[in-house]
Amino acid sequence: MSQALQASEPVIAVTGLTKIYGQGEAQVTALDGVGLEIPRGQMMALMGPSGSGKSTLMQVLGLLDRPTSGTYRLNGQDLSRVSSRAMAELRGRRIAFVFQSIHLLPRLSALHNVELPMIYARMPSAERRQRALDALGRVGVGALAHRMPNQLSGGQAQRVAIARAVAPGPDLLLADEPTGALDRASGREVLGVFQTLNESMGLTIVMVTHDPLVGRHAERIIEMEDGHFIRDYAVADGERLFAHQEVSA
Ligand code: ADP
Ligand code: MG
Repeated sequence: MSQALQASEPVIAVTGLTKIYGQGEAQVTALDGVGLEIPRGQMMALMGPSGSGKSTLMQVLGLLDRPTSGTYRLNGQDLSRVSSRAMAELRGRRIAFVFQSIHLLPRLSALHNVELPMIYARMPSAERRQRALDALGRVGVGALAHRMPNQLSGGQAQRVAIARAVAPGPDLLLADEPTGALDRASGREVLGVFQTLNESMGLTIVMVTHDPLVGRHAERIIEMEDGHFIRDYAVADGERLFAHQEVSA
């Protein structure tokens, strides 16, 4: 099942990806034959107006939904014949999600929230504690590990949610409007956190954002409209800033 990964193998390679919701008159083509390769270690932003298909693409890339047609290779593995159960397992081990709405369990500390998925995955307690503390440190909230969620600002809570997503060691982080519920300054800090994770761990990141300054943090931007990619471009050298993470504790 787990094959040795070639360094040159893209994390994601999709072709002709189409997703049609509904039937007959109510039919909506949310993805209209998109093709995409994402090399390992890339940080990429997906932009576009509401309804253009961004979340649908993220759900297909994240194995939360199957496309109507098209091919998807994840780490070189063709997923078209993979069972739903094997997909769920791949999703659990390889892919991390961050969403706009931040769901931390209110009665657990930041640290315990980060540990929880690894408890479900039956990871030994010493390892999961270490991974949780490392992840909290990487996203700049190591000092807040013992706070309860109601003692965190929105930006701090989203950092904890990001720590929870990356602590188990996924290959791919998918973030759908992770800054959508935050004020602009906190949102920009969160973009910096993603960049830090990308640079320090080589984590491959795909995120949806409306922030026009995302090019300071991402290496590549794809713009969508009506289920198509209308632009796909690299951010010019030098435009991407050095990530710096201050803890706004
Ligand atoms: P975005 O994230 O860019 O706002 P979405 O991927 O959510 O766009 O939606 C793309 C299109 O697909 C929209 O027209 C939306 O109404 C439609 N759509 C999304 N999810 C569903 C669904 N579960 N059932 C029917 N239509 C959907
Ligand atoms: Mg969306």
